[in-house]
Amino acid sequence: MADGSSDKEREIAALAEKASVCVACDLCESRTNVVFGEGNPNSPLVLVGEGPGETEDRTGRPFVGRAGQLLDECLRECGILRRHIFITNVVRCRPTLEEGGRLKNRPPRTDEASTCLSLWLEPTLSVIQPLVILCLGSPAANAIIKKGFRMMQERGQFFDSKYAHYAIAGLHPAYILRQQGEAYDAARASLIADIEAARKKVIEAKKEPPRTLF
Ligand code: SF4
Repeated sequence: MADGSSDKEREIAALAEKASVCVACDLCESRTNVVFGEGNPNSPLVLVGEGPGETEDRTGRPFVGRAGQLLDECLRECGILRRHIFITNVVRCRPTLEEGGRLKNRPPRTDEASTCLSLWLEPTLSVIQPLVILCLGSPAANAIIKKGFRMMQERGQFFDSKYAHYAIAGLHPAYILRQQGEAYDAARASLIADIEAARKKVIEAKKEPPRTLF
């Protein structure tokens, strides 16, 4: 390409521009920025989280608060830099609730998640065609793997997915940050194990014949 961008980079940039003015669900009313996602659209590995938090809403970038710093640490322990992969969320605008005069994060409602999934996440994954998706937290696992995903019983297992050759789910870094002492260490170690499993699965999946995804 004359400008050095790949086809996927240009397609993702066009999607992100369209999404930046999306008003398809109620979450548009309280957002500061649409957080579309970022990274390498040519990556065989995509991470999908829940939705933007306060720092993400302010900056327009995914996973840049404390949870994002923890995620970066865990990725680095597996030899992965965030610029090598693509990171996004189920919803692109911050879901909030008011408590004691302050806005707090909340999980996205089912209708918000399904609207953002069909409008923006599915087209994004359709462009990237990842080999492996790592879902961070239950909302992402429910959207990408199956409804009613049981995080504590089913995390770390690989599932077939219409969005990738394989999908796996791990703990959301924000959940890990809420743990203390040994529970924190165990939760952090489990996320590293799931990232490492996803990394190894990418290497295996590269040897498989190409598949037509959704
Ligand atoms: S959360 Fe998604 S669907 Fe809802 S307004 Fe934001 S970009 Fe649009």
